[in-house]
Amino acid sequence: MRLIFHGPPGVGKGTQAGRISIEQGLSHISSGDLLRAAVDAKTEVGLKAREYIENGLLVPDELIVNIVADKINSAECEKGFILDGFPRNLSQAKVLDSTLGKTGKKIDRVFSFIASEEVIITRIAGRRMCESCGAHYHELFSPPSKENVCDECQSKLFQRKDDYPETIKVRLKVYKEQTEKLIDYYNNKGILEEVDCNGDKAEIQQNIIAGLHSMSKEERDME
Ligand code: ATP
Ligand code: MG
Repeated sequence: MRLIFHGPPGVGKGTQAGRISIEQGLSHISSGDLLRAAVDAKTEVGLKAREYIENGLLVPDELIVNIVADKINSAECEKGFILDGFPRNLSQAKVLDSTLGKTGKKIDRVFSFIASEEVIITRIAGRRMCESCGAHYHELFSPPSKENVCDECQSKLFQRKDDYPETIKVRLKVYKEQTEKLIDYYNNKGILEEVDCNGDKAEIQQNIIAGLHSMSKEERDME
């Protein structure tokens, strides 16, 4: 099964991709995580990507498409994958199609995550991460027991620079201008499924699982 989780920043794609990939035995490919790892490791890609990321802009395609293509073609993705954060524009979507097409594969389903702008901004603005172990917290929804201190390892929490309020606005604008149009692209292929993401994590997960089940039924019907 090859899936894409599509939607605006902060809508919860990463959280759900983490849960569903474990449950379904799929590989989770987060382009944002791959890029942040490159930034931390100060690789050539990381050094070039850093400023774009911190300013809430998309990194140029050439910095990300090869990294994602290598992942998709690797043994760990043999059983299938969930793409989270990729593709972000039409040209990335086309590269993805041709990369998969070379080995006779295709994307089976695209889950389009829908939430109000208010929900999105609240989710992003409260997000905090541990600077040492990377554990995730949220000021309102999953606060640490001691303010700004990680429950797991007692290190300090920090806020991603691209989660600052002014940068959130840029990311939402970039989403509307470049990424939202992929909804039409995948809808025209007949593989788009909308997921209501205004509820809590467990509810959203149930909505996706229901979508996956309807998908296997449709596939059974086609046989
Ligand atoms: P969230 O943090 O909630 O997952 P997001 O989806 O906007 O929201 P990431 O996917 O982690 O965040 O991406 C963070 C940044 O990494 C983006 O703002 C962009 O600069 C860069 N990035 C990630 N994926 C891509 C991509 N496919 N193409 C170009 N830039 C990307
Ligand atoms: Mg993400």
